[in-house]
Amino acid sequence: MKLNNDLSKIKEENEFFMLTEKVKNFRKNNPNCEIISLGIGDVSKPIIKPIINAMHEAVEDLSKMETFKGYGDSSGYHFLKQKILENDYKNMDFTFDEIYISNGTKTDVCSILELFDINSTIYIPSLIYPIYKNGVHCLSRNLKYFHVHEKENFVPQVPNEKFDIVYICSPNNPTGIAYSYEDLRKWVNYAIENNAIILYDNAYSAFINSPDVPKSIYKIDGANKVAIEFRSFSKNISFSGVRCSYYVIPNKIYEGINKIWKKRTINRFNGADYIAQKGAEASYIEDAQTEIKKNIDDYLNNTKRLKSAFKKLGFTVFGGEDSPFLWVKIKEGINSWEIFNLYLKELNIIIIPGIIFGEKGDGFFRVSGLGSRENIEKAIEKLEKYYNYR
Ligand code: PLP
Repeated sequence: MKLNNDLSKIKEENEFFMLTEKVKNFRKNNPNCEIISLGIGDVSKPIIKPIINAMHEAVEDLSKMETFKGYGDSSGYHFLKQKILENDYKNMDFTFDEIYISNGTKTDVCSILELFDINSTIYIPSLIYPIYKNGVHCLSRNLKYFHVHEKENFVPQVPNEKFDIVYICSPNNPTGIAYSYEDLRKWVNYAIENNAIILYDNAYSAFINSPDVPKSIYKIDGANKVAIEFRSFSKNISFSGVRCSYYVIPNKIYEGINKIWKKRTINRFNGADYIAQKGAEASYIEDAQTEIKKNIDDYLNNTKRLKSAFKKLGFTVFGGEDSPFLWVKIKEGINSWEIFNLYLKELNIIIIPGIIFGEKGDGFFRVSGLGSRENIEKAIEKLEKYYNYR
């Protein structure tokens, strides 16, 4: 018996584990200290009432003989696909067969690799949501990094070399930068010319407001021949604990592609939770949309507040316009674990060391506006005192 040796290549678990351990130890040694996290990658607002009500009704459905649901369609219920097609992909001519409802983008961005040849070269930006590279390792695929540069605002640039599959995440975690029509058009054109595929992680689409940033990659001409788009209900409707997501595989990518993937899906997945799908369906009601928008605006306002505070303190800050994340350049000339330790000890503030997202991230840290406004104001006060702005 031999274990999958590629699993040992996964480092990320150790780094996040290290962070949690450091905070745990600090709490143990300083039990009365209030620690504020600016590192939060999860939402903090509860699920809104119209969605909760829909999920209560779904629970009731399960309690009655006439409305009970057992296994559903492994690619998701039509009632949710219909809402997605009518709202998120209006006038785009996608069909029910091209939409897959699932239980989280984290699952989807990795498992999609099973659709492609095992020898495909998978291109990954050097600063990334670590799950892509770890997913590639889990499935023992060939991985190649390409660098993103500060001077290009961390926007990935099309390479001179060949690849088969590329992960693009916009709005980006960790940099908080959202890519424009122009940025994405270059990737779509490359993919068309080189018979490549773009795996487009759009988990933060709800945060997009800028007119030059497309809400979907399919707004770019030809993207429906080369891109698979992933979206999540985790961040817009606080479903990170409920679990619901979806992705689109356009028929135009390859003849019969959805027949092949349906076969795989039926055999490897028994469908997303009925209650979750009912909740997600309710998120498209007009009243719900208004409340969701307000929550997103609150997070974005938190992020803008943090951005202006860090800038006032002399930091160079990226992102935060169409994303809840800010990517802050360390000005002290220390590395990202060192600033993590410093802020924890001196300010009792948690930030995420940039190195967790790749070696190129070591001169940076990530903060987010996903926490409460009250905590963000407290953190800003501490930072301003520390840097002698108060
Ligand atoms: N993609 C990105 C870029 C993320 O940052 C996250 C979660 O933080 C996910 C995907 C995971 O989404 P889900 O909760 O749908 O699995």
